[in-house]
Amino acid sequence: MKYSVVIPVYNEEANIKELFARIKPTMDNLNEEYEVIFVNDGSTDGTRKMLEELSPITVVNFRKNFGQTAALDAGIKQATGEFVITLDGDLQNPPEEIPKLIQKQKEGYDVVSGWRKNRQDTFDKHLISRGANSLRKIFINEGIHDSGCTLKIYRRECFADLNLYGEIHRFIPGILNWQGYKIGEVEVQHDPRKHGETKYKSSRILKGLVDMIGVWFWRKYSSRPLHLFGGTGIIFTMAGCIMLLVLAVLRIMKLMSLAESIWPLISILLILVGIQLFVSGLLAEIMVKNYYNNNRTPYNIKSVIKK
Ligand code: UDP
Ligand code: MG
Repeated sequence: MKYSVVIPVYNEEANIKELFARIKPTMDNLNEEYEVIFVNDGSTDGTRKMLEELSPITVVNFRKNFGQTAALDAGIKQATGEFVITLDGDLQNPPEEIPKLIQKQKEGYDVVSGWRKNRQDTFDKHLISRGANSLRKIFINEGIHDSGCTLKIYRRECFADLNLYGEIHRFIPGILNWQGYKIGEVEVQHDPRKHGETKYKSSRILKGLVDMIGVWFWRKYSSRPLHLFGGTGIIFTMAGCIMLLVLAVLRIMKLMSLAESIWPLISILLILVGIQLFVSGLLAEIMVKNYYNNNRTPYNIKSVIKK
């Protein structure tokens, strides 16, 4: 099997038929063996029925709605192709762009991500995405413009050691780039949603931000959390101690009365926060050691050559 096309769908009854009708000729044209996997993420409309009418496809039915990331993970684990192609089930990612991704991949990439240069979404979504993308450039610089576009092609081995959780699907390139996979991008068309509704509200801003910090931390400090927590902890504690010392000297020289001053409190606060940070760092270090003891490694081997 060469290609596995994975599509998460949640209440997309009005889109599925056209989507499959457009994927099929595009994939047939490639003259390679392929499969289409729909993950029905607990849809409550006619999605399941629509899927029953299509063939040949694989359908993974979730018991309830678990979210797009979980659906992608399940679809990818089901995939048997050498490459996994993902796209949205709402026709916003035109399947006709798939050959473009494949073309780019052949230049030697492990992942090629679609870049929705001319994004067809509402104004607020545009704005949020702009902000998120500039922040991402600072925190996680994996070198692409648009990490949130589902239209992507991956070498399947990228997922050998990758479990997707939460809403982390927007940061898959960031995680893979950290593991040493080569990430490329190519401009793709983006269409407005014609049927059905978007599944995301603006509450995703905060979640996205937290996920981003999580990925940043994981990329940078997952194998040495004490460097971050211990380091900042020591800085805080030292600042607090120095302040206390200065205050004590000023008091002894009778240059300052501490009775009504806020500074002693601030010094003590700094010391306490510092100790807390350091202890958290020690705990994080223990937990990370546990994580990697589970047969995981903080590195990723591309191949082992025996001669
Ligand atoms: N989706 C899903 N489970 C969810 C939410 C969304 O499988 O809980 C699917 C949805 O059916 C669509 C894709 O993920 O195929 C992207 O969702 P949507 O178009 O609502 O996101 P937007 O384009 O508005 O960011
Ligand atoms: Mg959409």
